[in-house]
Amino acid sequence: MMIIMHTDATEQQISTVVERVEENGLRAHLSKGEERTVIGAVGDGRAIYMDMFVHLPGVDRVIPISRPYKLASREFIPENSVFPLDGVKVGDNGIVLIAGPCSVENRTQLLETAYAVREAGAHALRGGAFKPRTSPYSFQGLGEAGLELLVEAREVTGMPIVTEIMAPEQIPLLTRYADVLQIGARNMQNYALLNAVGESRHPVLLKRSMMASVEDLLMAAEYILSHGNRRVMLCERGIRTFETATRNTTDINAIPVLKSLTHLPVLLDPSHSTGHWEYVAAIARSGIAAGADGLIVEVHNNPSEAKSDGAQSLKPERFAEMVSQVRAVAEAVGRTLVPIPSAEQSPLGIPGK
Ligand code: PEP
Ligand code: MN
Repeated sequence: MMIIMHTDATEQQISTVVERVEENGLRAHLSKGEERTVIGAVGDGRAIYMDMFVHLPGVDRVIPISRPYKLASREFIPENSVFPLDGVKVGDNGIVLIAGPCSVENRTQLLETAYAVREAGAHALRGGAFKPRTSPYSFQGLGEAGLELLVEAREVTGMPIVTEIMAPEQIPLLTRYADVLQIGARNMQNYALLNAVGESRHPVLLKRSMMASVEDLLMAAEYILSHGNRRVMLCERGIRTFETATRNTTDINAIPVLKSLTHLPVLLDPSHSTGHWEYVAAIARSGIAAGADGLIVEVHNNPSEAKSDGAQSLKPERFAEMVSQVRAVAEAVGRTLVPIPSAEQSPLGIPGK
């Protein structure tokens, strides 16, 4: 339930309500708006509790949250959640582009690709160092050596880095290197991992599993939020259907549906959604037209030599072309691409950052 405080409620009244929430075995999540504070009381929220709070000093009214996910719902937070990622605002009117190779393979591959995507307008660099591969015999990633290369790419291009986490034990290592922890489709319901990234308070990109409903995705996000981490971005990356012409089927519906159900930023991955580079730009454009807050796209300096997902990786020049198309679509729907932070704003003073 949501406990809406009066506009003139005092700090003391707010903390009394929080204490009462916790005494009843519920968790209190404060949302301080410009005008008033809303306290989300989450747990086994049976209606029985509502009367208990409505008469406390400073309380205006108590409203149940009808959805099974509470903190993720727009009922709890009606405005879009916006958070800064190294100078770039995610979840605002501006569109954010994350691009880079599926896997970090070597220094030349990563740096060439990173420079190229930055040049084309990317805001953040993606690249897996720990790869969840369907086959145990496929390339599994460079591990920590890959993270070191990502850090070098961040230093020279100024882009924050997004990389996948596969297990709770990797939290200390990955939070030292990465700006955003990606939870892949295969781990969307790895509850120990969701709880651990929740506790880490590190920004998270949560991808939808190929067999999860929109509600399953939001319930997975709820695990992260309920462990105290509010910096969560959601990502549609295609689901499995009977269709085999593409690797997955982009659930384009999920974008406006998610935007209406949740305040969290919603991204689209047109690369895993389609599995073929030829379709990536078209689906990227459609995602932006449908209301996505950003894209995460696989780009490789030499896709035919890629150790993973070469078939769906764009060459840098094709990515640049896609960015200009996406910019035009964004403008047509009243949005813009987030400007690249300038060198003057850069803490490292790197041109283009
Ligand atoms: C990836 O981003 O390279 C990846 C493995 O994605 P997904 O988890 O969506 O399959
Ligand atoms: Mn991939």
